[in-house]
Parts: sequence; C-alpha cells; structure tokens
Amino acid sequence: MTPLYDNHGRPLTYLRLAVTDRCNLRCFYCMPEDGIRYLPKKDLLTFEEIERLITLLASLGISKIRLTGGEPFVRHDLMDLMQRITEIPGVKDLHLTTNGVLTAPHVGALKKMGIASVNLSLDTLDRERFRVITRRDEFEPVMHTLNLLLEHDIAVKINAVVMEGKNIDDIVPLIELTRNQRVEVRFIEEMPFNGEGNHYPTLHWTYTRILDYIKSHYPNLVKLPDPQHSTAYTYTIPGHLGNLGIIAAFSRTFCGTCSRLRVTAQGTLKTCLYDDGALDLRALLRGNHSDDSIKQQLHTAFQHRAKDGFEAEQHRKNHLPVSESMSTIGG
Ligand code: SAM
Ligand code: SF4
Repeated sequence: MTPLYDNHGRPLTYLRLAVTDRCNLRCFYCMPEDGIRYLPKKDLLTFEEIERLITLLASLGISKIRLTGGEPFVRHDLMDLMQRITEIPGVKDLHLTTNGVLTAPHVGALKKMGIASVNLSLDTLDRERFRVITRRDEFEPVMHTLNLLLEHDIAVKINAVVMEGKNIDDIVPLIELTRNQRVEVRFIEEMPFNGEGNHYPTLHWTYTRILDYIKSHYPNLVKLPDPQHSTAYTYTIPGHLGNLGIIAAFSRTFCGTCSRLRVTAQGTLKTCLYDDGALDLRALLRGNHSDDSIKQQLHTAFQHRAKDGFEAEQHRKNHLPVSESMSTIGG
C-alpha cells in the first residue's frame, strides 16, 4: 500500500505511542495532585495489538517509533515489547521517553538492543524543586539514570518544561550540563495538557522569552541547523560538547513539517497533538478488520488532518479547550 501522506502533502514517518497512562510522578504541568482516573488495564492496547499496529504502520512508511506514556516503565515487561518492536521489518529507530525513576536497571539492555535515543524528563537539578514540581521525592534515581545513560553512550535529550515561578533558576544549570556532556537539553513551552485546564491566562515563558533569557546569559549562543521535521530550534555554545533546543509546543511554529502520528494509551489515533482523536484504533484492532482495511482507514483519517495545531484545536468536539492530561497522550 502507498506510504502515508496527509491532505497537505506531509509524509507521516514517526509514531509516538503511549504504552500506559499510569505514572509514578505527578508533575504539576501534566496531572492534578490526586492523579487522573486511570484506564482499566483491559482498555490499554495489549502487546500483541501494539505489535500488529506497528507492523502495519511500518508497511505504510512509519520507520521511527517512540514509546512514551504515562511512564513506560510502570508497564510490566516493557523491555520485551521494545525488543519485539526492534524486530519488526521497516522499523529503523526505536526511541523512549521516560521520567527515569525506574529506568536505571534497564540501561545496559537498552544499549544492547540498540535504542536510538532516550528522552529524559528533568525540569530541575535541585532536589527540593524536583519534589515540588513532580510531587514525589525521586530526584536521586532520575540522576542515577542520567549518569548511566551518559556512561553507556546512549544519545540523551533532557526535556525541561519551563514554568513561571518553578524552575527559571534551573535554565542556566541545565545548560551547564552541555558543557562537558554530549547531551541535548530542550526547553519546552508549557501546554495546558495538565488534566485540569490552563494554568495561566497567557503563557509567560514563550520560546522567544526563553531564547532571550538564554542569550542574556550566553551572548555567544550559536544557532545550529534544525534537523528535518524537528520540533526544536537547536543551538550550541562554543566550547560546549552538547546542544540545547527550544520547543515552541504552545506557540506551534513547527506544524508545517509535522511527520508525527500519535496513538494514545487507549489506542486512539491523533493526527495532531491538539486534536481530540481521529480514529479508534483499539476498536479496529479488536474488531474483525483486516490489516488492509485498517490501513485504508488510516489513509482516510489523514485526508482530514488539520493544517496546524490551531486548526486542530478549533475542530475539537463542542469546541472544548484542551485540558486532558499529557500522560494519556504521551507528549
Ligand atoms: N513519563 C514520561 C516522561 O515524563 O518523560 C513520558 C510521558 S510525558 C507525558 C512526555 C513528555 O511530555 C515529558 O517530557 C513531559 O515533560 C512533557 N509534558 C507533559 N505535560 C506537558 C505540558 N503540559 N506541557 C509541555 N510538556 C509536557
Ligand atoms: Fe508522569 Fe511524565 Fe506526566 Fe510527569 S510528565 S506526570 S513523569 S507522565
């Protein structure tokens, strides 16, 4: 079957799949303090369903896969699933996004299976601020994971959401990690996917403000070419081994080249982070549908894709603003 393209001529090559909505942290920007109402386990895609879905997506040209969540490592036997995914024909790179709390014991095996990169969420290098932001005291295991990933020479990107009144003093210390380590630190605009609605009437820390702040501390900041389909504006500081990036996730400056499809923890296809679901893949996988019929429905779904995240948000059912938790979507 022909590769997957959308109605704006954009190829789809990158799947982000949430393996669970459960999490062992309660990050302020992602979930309310008492958590969210988790899906019953029977509503999550099984490993067999995930394998079938990725196999049929790979035959449509999706070659890059990222597992995310919730926290992927709270799902039992995650490493078995990952190994199975690396063996699917057409899958070129497997990536993982994790909070790092349970990740350290698996770092050696991740290296061995040839993981392409790990994105580690780390908004602060201060233990107390970590506790306040994530509402859990798990800073030490996360730092242990970071050190192990670096020791094993696994490509690491640190994701830091920039939050007014919470971690502005961490921007410079996080950038300092790039001085002697081959790590990319990415600063992300906060989005309203926190399970309760917008935290601020207007976003304080837009990508332009983040950039100005960084330039005020590092006037010699150098712009690097951005990789194709990248969501980050990438920079480096002369003499530093690593890079830094800024992701305009709320300002949505990167939609024109978006190559991503998302599958939520309950198996819903999202053609845009900001839409509210385009296709119930779980129902298709559990119904009596052939692979060809599912592929056809994927093609059809992408013929109705919004041109950008603003249009996707406008087209949500009942025009309700986004407020769902990112842990159901995967980021
Ligand atoms: N639990 C894993 C983790 O934290 O890395 C994976 C799932 S988490 C939902 C994926 C990414 O989404 C994390 O890097 C997190 O920082 C980001 N994220 C979550 N809520 C966000 C929000 N409201 N705005 C911006 N980024 C957010
Ligand atoms: Fe959990 Fe990741 Fe959401 Fe934090 S951002 S609550 S670690 S899913």
